Amino acid sequence: MTLGRTRAVGLHGLAGFVVEVEVDVSAGLPQFLVSGRPDASCKQSPDRVKAAAANCGHQVAQRRVTVNLSPASVPKIGSGFDLAICVAVLAASETIERRVVEDVVHLGELGLDGTVRPLRGVLPLVLAAARAGVRHVVVPVANAAEARLIPGIRVHPVAHLGELVERYRLLAAGVTPPEVEEPVHPVPPEVGWPDLVDIVGQDEPRRALETAAAGGHHLYLVGPPGAGKTMLAERLPGLLPPLDDEQAMEVTAVSSILGMPGVLTALERRPPLVAPHHGASMPAIVGGGTNPVVPGAVTQAHHGVLFLDEAPEFQSGVLQALRQPVESGVVVIGRAMGRFLFPCRFQLVLAANPCPCGLGYGKGDRCRCSSLRRNTYQNKLRGPLLDRVDIQVFVPAPSRATLILEPGETTAVVAARVREARAIQGERWGHLGYRVNAHVPGPVFRDGPMRLCRAVTHDLDAALDRGLSMRSYHRCLKLAWTLADLRGADVPDGDDVGMAVGLRCQDGELAA
Ligand SMILES: [Zn+2]
Repeated sequence: MTLGRTRAVGLHGLAGFVVEVEVDVSAGLPQFLVSGRPDASCKQSPDRVKAAAANCGHQVAQRRVTVNLSPASVPKIGSGFDLAICVAVLAASETIERRVVEDVVHLGELGLDGTVRPLRGVLPLVLAAARAGVRHVVVPVANAAEARLIPGIRVHPVAHLGELVERYRLLAAGVTPPEVEEPVHPVPPEVGWPDLVDIVGQDEPRRALETAAAGGHHLYLVGPPGAGKTMLAERLPGLLPPLDDEQAMEVTAVSSILGMPGVLTALERRPPLVAPHHGASMPAIVGGGTNPVVPGAVTQAHHGVLFLDEAPEFQSGVLQALRQPVESGVVVIGRAMGRFLFPCRFQLVLAANPCPCGLGYGKGDRCRCSSLRRNTYQNKLRGPLLDRVDIQVFVPAPSRATLILEPGETTAVVAARVREARAIQGERWGHLGYRVNAHVPGPVFRDGPMRLCRAVTHDLDAALDRGLSMRSYHRCLKLAWTLADLRGADVPDGDDVGMAVGLRCQDGELAA
């Protein structure tokens, strides 16, 4: 028999899938073919495998080698299959004993001299292997710390192909091979979020920020330059609870795919803050590319905050494309080789100047632009995108009176209230699979057990007659519940509904 078998893991979007690697080596015209939908980089694997094996003293060049990667229905992207293909080839040619490698997953790119190079995406790859019941995984030594973040699977680091062959020779002979020395990773210094105490005054925007954090609501900040919109946005992740195990795994998987290979050593426990430049392209924001299809800013902000400063400056197409991810928490990218789903359950924070000239137009301000110009600017956000943003608040420029104000509450104090409010929501919505009010479908708040009494919603109901959209109506109800949760009240009262209307509508939608 000249068949060798081992396993690898491929990546589709953010999810891994175990790949069976089969190799047949026979006499005949020398050739080395890979089948099972390899991409261009994977197709070049034979060149690297032949050179690496030869430089470790194992000739495979003069044989007929056929490699099959299954399932053949899913494309195999990248050079991470090199090590598995090489091990299967060496097993087929009986350099390595077949039974010791059959159930092991091998991950790694091969250098021509046999060096095993680190890969991107090792965290989701090893996670997929562990979930498929694999018990042993061989990874490049630089990826070992990252692979060990996954419980329930033995990680065997390898630096060089020759060393791996020797290891299998010892195992076949019943000897325990020595452990490979791993590089020591320096512990990165703990970087805290900027504190809310730095923001003086701004009671209304502070309350908006706290409410957004408590209920998972999207937030729109309008105000003149220098009013502190960016400072506010940067303090939102610090108010959110730390990520739980599952969330941390998802967030870290994104860093693993996008970051430098071999530098990840710990799970990310902090909600991410992603602030793309307004010149960013569509693929940079929503994800794209072909080989591989990579997640964009919306997915990097998964379980955290996506902050679009100077939001009206973004391309209209980009702003339009955000509607679906904002609503569904998932972005779908269609490609010839299939559909790619990336999670993106982020909190959106939009910031804008009142006018494109960057000057305020209130009393004493210097803006001389026409109201048409200002409206055109603001209208880029209005409509479907802004309609999905629960809280809209004006951030005024600081005045001389600000200087004598006492410092406000710290992030720790506000975050504690947010935590309590989120615990209440977790209990209320857990059975429906939601964590926060903002994610619950609107009609749930209008009918059934969540229905508030007429007296409480009287003013809001009346606004429906004045042209308030049903979506806005639902969003006010959600906000009212979040405000009640922050107070620790069982149900919202008239004040909560009134305040919700105030947070929701800064531009006079309800004021008439
Ligand atoms: Zn202006």
